[in-house]
Amino acid sequence: MARVIVIGCGGVATVGISKCCQVPEVFTDLCIASRTKEKCDALAAKLAPTTKTRITTTKVDAGNLDEMIALLQSYKPDMVLHLGLPYHNLVIMEACVRCKVNYLDTAAYEPEDVNDPEFRKYYDKRCQEKGFYAYFDYPFQWAYRKKFEEAGVTAVLGCGFDPGVTQAYVAYAKKHYFDTIDTLDILDCNGGDHGYKFATNFNPEINLREVSSPAAYWEDHKWHRVEAMTVKKEYNFDGVGEKDMYLLHHEEIESLGLNYPEIKRIRFFMTFGQSYLEHMRCLEDVGMLSTKAINYHGMEIVPIQFLKALLPDPATLGARTKGKTNIGCIFTGKKDGKEVHYYIYNVCDHQESYREVGSQAISYTTGTPAMCGAMMVLTGKWNKPGVYNVEEFDPDPFIDAMNRHGLPIRENFNPVLVD
Ligand code: NDP
Repeated sequence: MARVIVIGCGGVATVGISKCCQVPEVFTDLCIASRTKEKCDALAAKLAPTTKTRITTTKVDAGNLDEMIALLQSYKPDMVLHLGLPYHNLVIMEACVRCKVNYLDTAAYEPEDVNDPEFRKYYDKRCQEKGFYAYFDYPFQWAYRKKFEEAGVTAVLGCGFDPGVTQAYVAYAKKHYFDTIDTLDILDCNGGDHGYKFATNFNPEINLREVSSPAAYWEDHKWHRVEAMTVKKEYNFDGVGEKDMYLLHHEEIESLGLNYPEIKRIRFFMTFGQSYLEHMRCLEDVGMLSTKAINYHGMEIVPIQFLKALLPDPATLGARTKGKTNIGCIFTGKKDGKEVHYYIYNVCDHQESYREVGSQAISYTTGTPAMCGAMMVLTGKWNKPGVYNVEEFDPDPFIDAMNRHGLPIRENFNPVLVD
């Protein structure tokens, strides 16, 4: 039925591609296009005997507009699933508009070099005017709305778990349980243990940039900044147990604040162990998280890229990670004049994910929603030309697909609230 190009062949893409191959009646033809073709070939060879999906592979530099356009013109896909890095979102979106191809990604655009003077000018202005300090933000991609509308194709932004499923949970809660939502806490708990003193569960560069940036929450239609990792709460997670979690800035807060102006406060918490935090602080203190190139013996080295080369590849953590993730949303609000509290979440087991697709649960909980989101567009359920965040679509068919494809919801109508 549909021809799809997947950009990237890392941890998340491996799951996304494996899940597409489980639905060959929708994903009839799939091209894996990434920087290192050998990885694409190895994955294609592994999956080919298990699926009716016809898989091809190619090398592409997703940051090069001419290469991207040439790829789209030759393969003629219905959709691009961008499961590579967010640095390339804008180039890939531009190529999709020009070739009239649907688009989906899992992370908001951020520039590779945050010290680029052009970006810095924009960033400083935004910090002053809006109190918004994250490097990743949506306006760059929202600026493509008209172009996608005119091209008659759909772009789905941030369709992993968080961002992604968490926003579908908001739309689902509002549709089924609330007249008005007053507060929203998004809780991301990874109770998995990979046995390393320090490793990240997804791309180290993106992960460390996100976690070390200033935290913020949304209240009374304004951003409130807090220093990174200074607001700590404890929560007892179903399937995992008691964990420390920390307030973070996260990209879905930005779109939810806009699309659900009724919500008075939106916060995002993520769990971290002490070992992770101590290593991260130390690396930050010595300058290893810097994105600014230094000259070392005549060679340009970007510290965070060098660090990435030293750290375990998240795609290899699957075999050794044990435990579960628990990610979801807690709401307070009103229905028929009565106060309602509601918690919707998913629990995903690292080892079950590994048994199914050879990856740990962080990649699984990102790649699976990406496949389900693509299926929504390709089967006409989320087909509206323009650029949208996940909460702007009907959540029901998506949640139904997630229930069937490995990430079922759990609900609690009397949850413990985060103070
Ligand atoms: P990886 O680093 O494992 O994979 C990235 C892939 O992109 C690699 O295959 C890499 O190629 C490829 N790539 C990098 N640069 C280029 C380029 N210029 N051209 C073509 N391909 C390129 O990352 P993850 O799989 O861990 O993460 C993927 C994305 O998912 C990230 O954007 C991350 O932020 C997002 N994510 C979203 C989550 C959510 O819940 N929404 C949760 C977790 C992650 P090579 O193999 O050569 O390195």
